[in-house]
Amino acid sequence: MSKSDNERNIEHYKFHHIDVEKCKNCSDFFCEDKCFRHIYKVENKESEPKCVLVPGREGFCIKCHICTTVCRFKAIRID
Ligand code: SF4
Ligand code: SF4
Repeated sequence: MSKSDNERNIEHYKFHHIDVEKCKNCSDFFCEDKCFRHIYKVENKESEPKCVLVPGREGFCIKCHICTTVCRFKAIRID
């Protein structure tokens, strides 16, 4: 996969960037479980999982990087 293909899979929020292609292989959904600020929600857990930000909650992030650490696919980037 080329760099540009990778870039197309990334969903950009204000300062979170999620490679949702990687979420398709996920089964533990630690982003949703471990973020104590409840910033993430994983949709379609039973079929094609996809991590999204809960509307209105991005600003509650304190950049502790628990989420980037626990996501074993390294799907999350935070600026
Ligand atoms: S962000 Fe990481 S932990 Fe969350 S669903 Fe995607 S791959 Fe899984
Ligand atoms: S950096 Fe911390 S507060 Fe921000 S989304 Fe990740 S786990 Fe939640």
